[in-house]
Amino acid sequence: MPYPETINLPFNRSALPDDFAVLPTPQSPDDDQPAHWIVLQGGNLVLQESQGDLLLPLGRLPNGLTLKTPPLVFASWQKRQVRVAELPSLSVLPPGLSAEPFNAFRERIPADLVTIAGIGKQLLHWQKMSRFCSRCGGQPLQLPDSWGKRCPDCATEHFPHIHPCAIVLIRRDDQLLLIRKPEWAQGRYSLVAGFLDVGESLEECAIREAKEETGVDIKNVRYITSQCWPFPSQLMAGFVADYAGGEIRPDDNEIEDARWFTIGSLPDLPARRSIARFLIDTYGTLAN
Ligand SMILES: [Zn+2]
Repeated sequence: MPYPETINLPFNRSALPDDFAVLPTPQSPDDDQPAHWIVLQGGNLVLQESQGDLLLPLGRLPNGLTLKTPPLVFASWQKRQVRVAELPSLSVLPPGLSAEPFNAFRERIPADLVTIAGIGKQLLHWQKMSRFCSRCGGQPLQLPDSWGKRCPDCATEHFPHIHPCAIVLIRRDDQLLLIRKPEWAQGRYSLVAGFLDVGESLEECAIREAKEETGVDIKNVRYITSQCWPFPSQLMAGFVADYAGGEIRPDDNEIEDARWFTIGSLPDLPARRSIARFLIDTYGTLAN
């Protein structure tokens, strides 16, 4: 099986524009200079629409907006600061700005902008989740040249929490095993996936999740690639595997349906920017 050398999936840093750099540690806002803005509003990203293109707002502060969180300067792009902040969900946007659904399932926002926004969202989430030391309740201070923090009271260091998940494409002859969760868009199916448990390898996680979600045993679990998943802070590790045995018994708590689909007649699938779809499109036949 060929292993890809580079994967430019959105949300990974290789999908960022050329002169974009994530800062090693937050900077203070330079209020004299215009900045690029990642403005999050609930599950939306606030963008400027210009002649059909979606752009990040650029300026000192998006016109007329009152922010819910102080802006966090997390990157530089085109010699300008890139700031991320949240807007109250009921704020009315001024003309020229629109709230676009920000998730992996819509593809209207260009791949480079969702990647910038994803990194900003994940770092803002970390700043919000690390205001107090989880050991002693102290107020951690930012470490130099790092997004980590150190508690001045107990000296514990804290670093951004990234939660690993395994996602696995399961194959049997010319069929793929897909699952459906009730909260997904009508008719959509995707791959078995779940969070890593303590003491597990990612391969063991894929095997366990396949068993739990579908009742099926898998073998030949092979790592393919990974994708940053900033909703809010996961890393999806993608695998392919072969069917080893067992009948389908969907997990009633999490799964609405699980079934084998022939490769020529697949149902509605996740968007192309997701690792789930990448695995299906690239490794959906036994030839690969
Ligand atoms: Zn502490």
